[in-house]
Amino acid sequence: MTGATDLPSWHGQAYSTKRHGTSFAHCDSEPVQTPGCVQAHGALIVLRPETLVISQASENTLALLGHDASALLGQSVGVVVGAQGEERLRTFLAVEPVERNPLYVLSVPGADGRLFDVTVHSNGGVLLLEFEATLRPAQGTAESGQSAEPDYYALMRKSVVRMQGARTLREFCDITVDELRAMTGFDRVMVYKFHADGHGEVFAESRLDTLAPWLGLHYPAADIPQPAREVFKQIWLRPTPDVGGALAEMVPLADPVSNKPLVMTHCALRGASVMYTEYLQNMKVTAGLTLSIRQDGELWGLIACHHYAGPKFVSYPVRTACEFLAQVASLQRRSAETREQLESRLRLEEVHRQLLAAASHVGELADLFEGEPTLADAVPCGGVALFHAGRWWRLGETPSDVDLDALAAWVAMRPEFLAATSPIYATDHLAADYPDGVALASVASGLLAVPLSRTKRSLMFWFRPETLRTIRWAGHPDDKPSVPGPNGARLTPRASFDLFQESVRGRSAPWLMFELDAIARLRVAVLELVVERSEQLAVLNADLLRSNEDLDAFAYVASHDLKEPLRGIHKYAHQLQVRTDSTDAEAQRQLGGLMRLTLRMDSLLDSLLHFSRVGRVLLELSQSDLNLVVADAIEMVGSRLDASKPEFVLPRPLPGIECDWVRCREIYVNLLSNALKYSDRADKRIEIGWIGASEPHARPLCPPDALGQPIFYVRDNGIGIAARHYEQVFKMFRRLHTRDTYGGGSGAGLAIVKKLVERHRGRIWIDSEPGVGSTFYFTLSADARPE
Ligand code: ADP
Repeated sequence: MTGATDLPSWHGQAYSTKRHGTSFAHCDSEPVQTPGCVQAHGALIVLRPETLVISQASENTLALLGHDASALLGQSVGVVVGAQGEERLRTFLAVEPVERNPLYVLSVPGADGRLFDVTVHSNGGVLLLEFEATLRPAQGTAESGQSAEPDYYALMRKSVVRMQGARTLREFCDITVDELRAMTGFDRVMVYKFHADGHGEVFAESRLDTLAPWLGLHYPAADIPQPAREVFKQIWLRPTPDVGGALAEMVPLADPVSNKPLVMTHCALRGASVMYTEYLQNMKVTAGLTLSIRQDGELWGLIACHHYAGPKFVSYPVRTACEFLAQVASLQRRSAETREQLESRLRLEEVHRQLLAAASHVGELADLFEGEPTLADAVPCGGVALFHAGRWWRLGETPSDVDLDALAAWVAMRPEFLAATSPIYATDHLAADYPDGVALASVASGLLAVPLSRTKRSLMFWFRPETLRTIRWAGHPDDKPSVPGPNGARLTPRASFDLFQESVRGRSAPWLMFELDAIARLRVAVLELVVERSEQLAVLNADLLRSNEDLDAFAYVASHDLKEPLRGIHKYAHQLQVRTDSTDAEAQRQLGGLMRLTLRMDSLLDSLLHFSRVGRVLLELSQSDLNLVVADAIEMVGSRLDASKPEFVLPRPLPGIECDWVRCREIYVNLLSNALKYSDRADKRIEIGWIGASEPHARPLCPPDALGQPIFYVRDNGIGIAARHYEQVFKMFRRLHTRDTYGGGSGAGLAIVKKLVERHRGRIWIDSEPGVGSTFYFTLSADARPE
């Protein structure tokens, strides 16, 4: 490795443990900006700015520059850089902006004949002169065997052009790490991106093929302690060319006049933190270079360069080029990210457009759970749930219906939900707000809740799983064995992971601003759709109501008016029959037929008349005991009982409800007489029961808006009805059998029953199996439905 053999002879001495004799319990207490020492491959001299007199020097100046540190104190800088050098320094300082900005000023020969690059910057009222062995090929210390120094400007320009062409943030970061590795020759270069909770992710990586990939690994926030983050907000570049190298302490440790520690934030030679070097050593890193990527003064991420085969010194010009690239990366990253977000937003909006198109085409929100795309594509998520038309619709990984009910009730009371504009509740840590969320964390650490109606319980939930489940953690106990570092178990992959696990438990990936914006717009569009749909339904309902009323009126008038002439026909037919010769059998048969037909037509007209009345009469609602209603109904059908002695069973007493007593009895009379009629069996059994609103029930074919109410039923063991006829049998004059089989009927009974049930705002439906029996279920009050 270049540089390794050129190290000063005292490399590896016991300086590394000096550090004021202090040991630090945790990283956040280490004074990283004022360590009081430098990395011993270079030397630091501190000057008074006015006089250029030396006030502090690193203790290795003797080895590197040939001057004892203590002897230098109080002397002019000319002792080290020569009179010409001092003059050059004065002129340089007069014109160059060196405040917290290290700049190369000159080169001087060192103690062992090597040339040293000198950079200067001011900070805290003193000048800091850093001496590092020159690595330029011209001085015979070729870093990469090249004969001439590369044109760094041309290289940088090429890199910048490539970076500018990136279309996505990832592509941008990929190019950045490639370019930096090509420029520096490090074994591994990574973009390390910080997440909102402070933890980091290896977002891009360029590495030697022989190294294990770290791309996609996540690191706990504690891996880059707060003091280090503060420093990286101020500097662009931080070299640690020899992780295992010695440290050289400052003489004296503090400023001799002010007694303040030397602020070394901008020193390239600043003594590396013990914690940091230990951490790097635990990862087998022998040399490192770190660059910062910033955004509005905040740290967005870092570019970490690692070397594994001994020290790696990077020359001043290369470092300058890297620094420039870090600055370009900071600026360009934002535009790459904006571009990417724009593309993601457009993609989301396109999905939303397709969803809305599908929904407005089929007119049903529930259809958004089938086909392509579905509501689960509306935003990146693990699962989605919609409460609509009285039930939950779910897709992907979601909590159960019961948990969703509880969550919906809780969300409805959130202040966000009560907000007038855009009532959306989003969290990436549900358990922090909702105690019961702890049990849901694996599927619902993240929740995005969007109401669709203010009055009704109609809403959409998107869920995100716990981050711990979805990402690969560096230092995960399953990934690597626990390796204790030189100072025990701290900062080992295992210890970091344990610490970290606690900090992200119950958290999901955060909802991004543009995702929330897009969902807010989707909500408005869906609301419009729902409103539009309900308006259409209202118009349709009004039309239907009107035409129903018209039909009722027509049926009433028609049947009423037809009855009169029919009676006339019957009368004349009878008179004709009396007058006709009784021996004329053919004439008698025809007249008999005519009279039967008029009677039959009369009974049809009665049914029609009754049906139309059912639609028009006012219900007389009263609190009624259904047991009495049913007893009455049984008695009424009893007159039609055959010899088979049917068994009527009430598994338990029926409840009292608000209904029209007479109409209700009619419902039961019709259902019971059908149950008796449509059966071939000798052991007819008819069960008359009910299911409580909150009682478990398999609910076959139960309409959604009948849920949550008591359900009444009449069950028989008769001939049954094929499923394809379930709807048919409720239509007027629709019979499944010929008139004379099974005791015959006009086919109006069930149509009347349906109308009566609907007049009570109820629903009626069938569950049946031919040959086994039928059950007619019905509800009687939609108002009883809990909303
Ligand atoms: P109907 O007056 O002819 O009995 P309904 O309207 O009451 O007319 O019934 C319509 C048709 O539904 C009947 O013709 C019969 O085929 C069928 N149906 C009604 N109830 C039952 C039942 N409990 N079991 C089998 N079929 C039935």
